[in-house]
Amino acid sequence: MNVLVYGAGQLAQMMYLAAVPLGIKLRAVDVKTNTIVDPVSKQTLALSIEEAIEQADVLTVEFEHVPEDLLEQAHQSGKLMPSIASIQAGADRVLEKQALTKLAIANCEHLIVTQVEQLEEAVEKLGEKLIVKSSRDGYDGYGQWRLSSKEQLPELQSELSKLDLEKVPLIVETMVPFDRELSLIGVRNQSGEVRCYPLAENLHHQGQLHVSVAPAPTVSAELNAQAQQAFTKLANEFDYVGVLAVEFFQVGDALLVNEIAPRVHNSGHWSMQGADTSQFENHIRAITDLPLGNTDANGKSAMINIIGCDDYSEDLLSIRNCHLHVYGKSVRPKRKMGHINLTGDSFQSLAEVMTTLAKYLPLNHFPKLLGEADKLSDIKE
Ligand code: AMP
Repeated sequence: MNVLVYGAGQLAQMMYLAAVPLGIKLRAVDVKTNTIVDPVSKQTLALSIEEAIEQADVLTVEFEHVPEDLLEQAHQSGKLMPSIASIQAGADRVLEKQALTKLAIANCEHLIVTQVEQLEEAVEKLGEKLIVKSSRDGYDGYGQWRLSSKEQLPELQSELSKLDLEKVPLIVETMVPFDRELSLIGVRNQSGEVRCYPLAENLHHQGQLHVSVAPAPTVSAELNAQAQQAFTKLANEFDYVGVLAVEFFQVGDALLVNEIAPRVHNSGHWSMQGADTSQFENHIRAITDLPLGNTDANGKSAMINIIGCDDYSEDLLSIRNCHLHVYGKSVRPKRKMGHINLTGDSFQSLAEVMTTLAKYLPLNHFPKLLGEADKLSDIKE
């Protein structure tokens, strides 16, 4: 079996690493250069995109922002999984909100805005605490603006008037006072079977994911059912094949969908050490029509993102239940350089590993680590 993945970053690399033991070969399309590359060495292969498509049994994506012409070409081959509609909905917040509304899945109150003047109407309808998101090409907090009072509106309008909102509308959302952020990673295969990982709790800093803990502490059966129901509705709607991530805000006993990602997801990286089958392996299994793997967690896990630095001590590998995953990129501010997976039998033992790990890291780049270790050590199981 041959898989061709659009995007040649760390997600393609980790898919590759999961595909090897299954005897599956994986190549990547570098969408910046329109070349075919090896997703680990990043070396260019002497192959056109057309030839690579021809030689592949399945095409998939590691990110949703694949240029339209390439995505259409992939779709036309009849080999693309997940479906083009799901990838487009993941890339365009207008399509995403339309799908959520159609399926009656609770999400943040919002308005679609195509003229800066409409922001005044948004303040009237949604209140003055708002988050404004570009409907396309935004990620990790980029393409987002916050309004905390009406007085800031003229300044925001003048900044947003530089954009072509007819072409790329804005989504204006109420700033939700959520209790926490959760995500559900699940997988659906070609015959419609769905398996979900346990919910993960996600800690963000400046719009970026820093820490995930899975299974999320104190999740009621009811909350879990809500998440799985939303996941299944979305996956069935798109006749989805592969791993899909759904991000939620928890507000009291309710879940609101924040966004969906039609791919393996950063908040599922814990599954590499913390679950029977990792999200990467299950994605490969689903798209190549192999039986799905068990998604149960083995104990408790945390995933710590390494962001914008590489000056940690590799001696962290001496810590029991601690695994390093490096993506091989040069350092830039806010760039995801790798992640560290931790496991434990209980939240207390996980907290102990986290506290030990902190000694090996430049803590200014890991602002959530010690606070989370404290929180986990207080959980009564
Ligand atoms: P997004 O790119 O939509 O995932 O947004 C990035 C982060 O901004 C989220 O993980 C939240 O921490 C925060 N955020 C996004 N939308 C909202 C909202 N409507 N209310 C409160 N916080 C939000």
